Amino acid sequence: MKIIDRLNEDRIHISFEVFPPKKDEDYGKVVHAVDEIATLDPAFISVTYGAGGGTSKNTAKIASHIKDDLHLLSLAHLTCASSTKEEVRHVIKKLKEMGIENILALRGDIPEGLTFPDADRFRYAYELVEEIRKHGDFCIGAACYPEGHVENEHKADDIRYLKQKVDSGVDFLTTQMFFDNDIHYNFLYRIREAGITVPVLPGIMPITSASQMKKSQELSGTVFPRRFLAILDRFGSSPAAMKQAGIVYATDQIIDLLANGVKNIHIYSMNRPDVAAAIVKNLSEIIKA
Ligand SMILES: Cc1cc2nc3c(=O)[nH]c(=O)nc-3n(C[C@H](O)[C@H](O)[C@H](O)COP(=O)(O)OP(=O)(O)OC[C@H]3O[C@@H](n4cnc5c(N)ncnc54)[C@H](O)[C@@H]3O)c2cc1C
Repeated sequence: MKIIDRLNEDRIHISFEVFPPKKDEDYGKVVHAVDEIATLDPAFISVTYGAGGGTSKNTAKIASHIKDDLHLLSLAHLTCASSTKEEVRHVIKKLKEMGIENILALRGDIPEGLTFPDADRFRYAYELVEEIRKHGDFCIGAACYPEGHVENEHKADDIRYLKQKVDSGVDFLTTQMFFDNDIHYNFLYRIREAGITVPVLPGIMPITSASQMKKSQELSGTVFPRRFLAILDRFGSSPAAMKQAGIVYATDQIIDLLANGVKNIHIYSMNRPDVAAAIVKNLSEIIKA
């Protein structure tokens, strides 16, 4: 089944994200986390693609475990900046052979030391989307950035390029993490005005420690609102309290989104089934309402 068909159903859907192990010996641990997340009735589980493409084999393996053994929808991420066009085509063919129907098409970060653009590589995610479309009837998702992508000085350019990406064959979008829902509502308004009509899944990252917050800020350049900074200031040095506060903050963001008409939520659960389960428990009645 294609993820887009699920997203178009008239009910609330929660999906989760996991990442593959960097080392093969940790494969079992990741599968264990995936199996636990699978018990939370996810709309789908997405599997990231390691920067540099080194974990691509495990991305496909975990995505097919989710599909074939757990009988759930899986979404395999695929990036193109760190591989040649030929290598990317090879991965797409492999995913097709494995019966994986849903791909999140990404450019990925440009590897250090690489002269970019390079004729042998796809330059932007929209070129990858065009390539995937040539290989079969995939459901294709892509990334979007409510606060603007870090490489773009002007948000208007970001939305113009996003429209080009969606028009190249994207079925749905997932956002970068954000911690202030008003930024998301403003983004939705601007993209709808630009004629982007595909479903948009807000990406919610539960921040459960001070170090995770620092890493998230470095990765995404996101703005942390005062309300979040006060929580971090007060509870950041107490791991159990910070974890609880981070779960409640994420829950609160989700409740606000659902109350404002959003139906599909993506949680950056990061191989932490305990955190994913705590959020789902907090939402148990809300999801049914
Ligand atoms: C939901 C989500 C999941 C992710 N998963 C992964 C993952 O699994 N693995 C990983 O390594 N990274 C992942 N990332 C990070 C992502 O790869 C980086 O943010 C990367 O820098 C941009 O990827 P993109 O697909 O958005 O690129 P693009 O859509 O190609 O955009 C990249 C930049 O180029 C600009 N641009 C686009 N088209 C044009 C054009 N025609 N002309 C000029 N400029 C243009 C855009 O505005 C943007 O600034 C994820 C990000 C998100 C939001």
